[in-house]
Amino acid sequence: MSIYGVEDFLARAKAYIEIGDENALRHACLELRFSLESIVYQRLRKIGDKLPRSVYKSWQPQKALKLLLSFEPRADQDITLDICVETVDGAPSGNRQHIGDYKMFSVKWLNKSYNKLGKFLHLTSLSEDDSPPQINATDLQEILDEIERVSTASLVLTMNSITAVACAVCKSDMYVSLSQIEEGSVVECYKDSCGAKHNIVKLDEGRFTADRIGFQSVPCNKCGKSFSIEDVKHGELKDCWNCSQTHVVGWGYSAWPIPEKSTV
Ligand SMILES: [Zn+2]
Ligand SMILES: [Zn+2]
Repeated sequence: MSIYGVEDFLARAKAYIEIGDENALRHACLELRFSLESIVYQRLRKIGDKLPRSVYKSWQPQKALKLLLSFEPRADQDITLDICVETVDGAPSGNRQHIGDYKMFSVKWLNKSYNKLGKFLHLTSLSEDDSPPQINATDLQEILDEIERVSTASLVLTMNSITAVACAVCKSDMYVSLSQIEEGSVVECYKDSCGAKHNIVKLDEGRFTADRIGFQSVPCNKCGKSFSIEDVKHGELKDCWNCSQTHVVGWGYSAWPIPEKSTV
């Protein structure tokens, strides 16, 4: 059994690809999606209890792998781990011992492949009726080969400790890794309805602050809580993370739709 335990998914995918008709290939897509999801979630789980599963369990793998990358910038690259063996007197002997291989697909590859598999799993939309996506055994075989390569990894590494910090806007937990503290990264609130950005500023002894300096928040017209607007373009709509009131954000902002004035 490999460390990611995706053999059963891959074996079934292989069998379906061999059958090769459209129905079998669709089933292969499903098995391949399961293996991708399984690998990415297991990798995130390695971060440990500091990052509760509830944070990412409903996410699509592309978003989950991006989160992992924000923690560990090299998390989507293959790594070979060797140690240098010491002699009895403590000096390096020059002998290297192979510890294992960490393998992971790139975010770009995952995005492309996951979307491609997803396309075949849905009935075609009206706009696609003229040229429905063609399911293709060669494409699926290529995806299977890459998953198989990653599944032969002998190590699942995690190099970072993670600290929970509250979003300055909605107060929900965000997670910041040691690399992000060292690099003074920008960390975005995970709550989709919030998305507030924070500058991570390193203090001393591993302490840091997550502040909103330079980013914009405005109070909600209905509940008064602040919500972030730094990513909103002129004329775009944005819902309050707290009460879901929609606002249109422009040079000014107001409740949307504009409430009718009372004529009493
Ligand atoms: Zn937030
Ligand atoms: Zn509100």
